[in-house]
Amino acid sequence: VRARVMEVTQSPEVEYEDIGGLEDQLQEVRETVEMPMKKPGMFDDVGIEPPSGVLLHGPPGTGKTMLAKAVANQTDATFIKMAGSELVHKFIGEGAKLVRDLFEVAREHEPAVIFIDEIDAIAAKRTESKTSGDAEVQRTMMQLLSEMDGFEERGEIRIIAATNRFDMLDRAILRPGRFDRLIEVPKPDQEGRELIFQIHTRGMNVADDVEFESLAAEADEASGADVKAICTEAGMFAIRDDRTEIRMEDFQNAWEKVQASSDETEDVSK
Ligand code: ATP
Repeated sequence: VRARVMEVTQSPEVEYEDIGGLEDQLQEVRETVEMPMKKPGMFDDVGIEPPSGVLLHGPPGTGKTMLAKAVANQTDATFIKMAGSELVHKFIGEGAKLVRDLFEVAREHEPAVIFIDEIDAIAAKRTESKTSGDAEVQRTMMQLLSEMDGFEERGEIRIIAATNRFDMLDRAILRPGRFDRLIEVPKPDQEGRELIFQIHTRGMNVADDVEFESLAAEADEASGADVKAICTEAGMFAIRDDRTEIRMEDFQNAWEKVQASSDETEDVSK
């Protein structure tokens, strides 16, 4: 069961410089996750406790998973990822057991960063979700909070959760000693998009006519994940045209394509 629902990676290959924009968010993640792991004594000397859990919230594809992976890499920690939706099960006690397994795996692989994506699946307000009124889902969340209480003082395991639906969360999980550090991860601004274009084209054969500044202005609704998709699609347009150099028009066509496919997925979800 473990292997199916948990993704365990030793020092994932994401560096801080792979993340475009998000300087303030990165700074906060470093203070709240990296510092307690690298210099636990600092917090003791100052006489404060590091935050128990960090919650990243913002739209899809903005770099939340990347931030968590990068900090695990920086601290030479094992990255253990689980989606909240994987913790919702039909059978009584199964969600709580998976939570216990998750922390057991983390203890076996210390230092470790536990990343729980879609935390809203187990921590939505009762009124907002069909599943959260479910006693089983409540128990799963209680198990998570109690595991978090268990290692307050130690810096070897840190917990990061993420959600795209902050407004749906049960405020109880945001209390002190729980997910008490909130970091908003927004869509990139113009400058951020330019940086993300530069990052994802580092290894690409880009023609001289390509201007990231104007691409970033055109793709003003794009998330980081969209920018990445544009770069890959632009490469595909060049290949289709039997060229090895990627031109401005390829990027423009790619943006249209990415926009069209995200409109489709939105329609499907309606
Ligand atoms: P979700 O909420 O859908 O899980 P997320 O916020 O966790 O999304 P990531 O998985 O971190 O998003 O991003 C998906 C991909 O998009 C990344 O692997 C990366 O290639 C690209 N990306 C997203 N944001 C950025 C960014 N700020 N800088 C560079 N690349 C980015």
